[in-house]
Amino acid sequence: MLLKISSDVFKDIYEIDSDGIIKFKIFLAGEWVKRDSWFDVKSPIDLSVISRVSVPTKTDIDYTLKTLYEHGRWDMRNIPGYKRLNILYKVAELLEENSDDFVNSLIINAGKTVQNAKAEVSAAIDRLKNAELDLRNVTGDYIPGDWSYETIETEAIVRREPVGVILAITPFNYPLFDTVNKLSYSILVGNAFAVKPASADPIPVILLFKILEKAGLPSRSLALLTVPGSEMERIVSDSRIAAISLTGSSETGNKVLKTAGIKQFIMELGGGDPAIILADADLKWAAQRVARGIYSYTGQRCDAIKIILVENTVYDDFKQSLIDELKKVKVGDPRNDVDVGPLIDTATADEMMSAIDDAISKGGKILVGGRRLGPTYVEPTLIEAPRDKIESMILFNKEIFAPIALITNIKNHEEAAELSNKRPYGLDVSIFGKDILKIRYLIRHLEVGAIYINDYPRHGIGYYPFGGRKISGIGREGIGYSIEYTTAYKSIIYNYKGKGIWEYL
Ligand code: NAP
Repeated sequence: MLLKISSDVFKDIYEIDSDGIIKFKIFLAGEWVKRDSWFDVKSPIDLSVISRVSVPTKTDIDYTLKTLYEHGRWDMRNIPGYKRLNILYKVAELLEENSDDFVNSLIINAGKTVQNAKAEVSAAIDRLKNAELDLRNVTGDYIPGDWSYETIETEAIVRREPVGVILAITPFNYPLFDTVNKLSYSILVGNAFAVKPASADPIPVILLFKILEKAGLPSRSLALLTVPGSEMERIVSDSRIAAISLTGSSETGNKVLKTAGIKQFIMELGGGDPAIILADADLKWAAQRVARGIYSYTGQRCDAIKIILVENTVYDDFKQSLIDELKKVKVGDPRNDVDVGPLIDTATADEMMSAIDDAISKGGKILVGGRRLGPTYVEPTLIEAPRDKIESMILFNKEIFAPIALITNIKNHEEAAELSNKRPYGLDVSIFGKDILKIRYLIRHLEVGAIYINDYPRHGIGYYPFGGRKISGIGREGIGYSIEYTTAYKSIIYNYKGKGIWEYL
């Protein structure tokens, strides 16, 4: 399979090798460069190599960090806020104009269905168009001094300012949206911005950088660091990076936290969410939404449903409705009319198959799916887990990034809260039901960052903030919330003692 790029906008950022494969340059604080060292990018559709991407040298990295730190962070800050906002709108406009290439790259490189790819491009555009809502929180405080004997006749303002250079590390599952989201809340408040995209699908991010340049962002303030994750230690620990915004697995989050040193962090880490079905839920609706929560983007979503806890009295009915929904799902080449495309790589399919074996060895029973249909293709799978064994299963304790979930029955909502909280993750929970007292109990007891009532968890563009507790992360992504981590507070204290401004008694 060959990747095709249709818009002329991108023509100076790649060359075509003799075998027809596109070789991309990378953007390093002001210029597009190509290097002798590159890595191959494959399509999960058929595992063919679809492009080659330059890898920066050590000298490139030092030059880039130096430029971002010495010039880029001031270049960005020196653009007035209203102009930065207008540039973000321009990025949205250019994304829209060139959306065919972005949709295509998400299908070919990330294996998204046409519908999922279009939804990601729309989400990126929407996020940019909503950037001004972030501004509601770019505010400061005025603090009078006369409440303390020590500070009388002084006063302070506490302002927010850009923290400097932000390093975004993005995952494979939303390469375009995640980069755009992190970019929005970083540059809106005046920071320089470097991104390290996932090695599996960097193409949408490379294309985005051309758009950023064209939209008029200061070129010394931007960098695209296509460095393998295993070689990121030097960058992550560099003291010129003031904040890291990582979306990725909990394992990667742990490594980054250990090596980064003292910085500001947003860590959106592993998840996989429980769904709780209460006895008075609308079972048909719940089954439709839970099914989507399991299979959408092949279960490769941090907010995908992985555990389903159903109150005893409705267990059989709900189970049957969910089986019926999952049986309708079509799996195949995402360029065709299907609901589910491939997994990102063969290792993830291997991991799903091992998790199925583990569940079966512990008494689990496959209710739907369970088969591997190709190197990267799997059936959406539902496994019934005995209540007394579920806690020992891999699928309960570890996020398996694939369309698979466990279902079990529980006595009541109290048991649902207890069982949900036993998982090491704490991203979201969805609750289906009407009994406000049970729902209110669950809201109080669940240790998660977000609760979705009568729908499956969907972070969307972050209109409502989301983020994890426990090993699911630190901080919040969401419009108006994330700037907390890309700005620093500065208190300015004015001393007017004895100058006759106040006439205190
Ligand atoms: P991943 O393997 O952890 O990789 C994420 C990013 O981190 C990639 O760019 C990766 O680069 C990089 N990386 C890996 N090791 C690193 C290291 N030691 N230092 C610095 N960077 C490193 O995750 P993924 O498979 O791409 O994405 C899926 C994960 O993201 C899931 O766990 C999912 O739950 C999580 N996620 C969470 C949220 C949320 O909101 N909480 C949202 C989306 C996804 P390479 O690709 O080069 O290895």
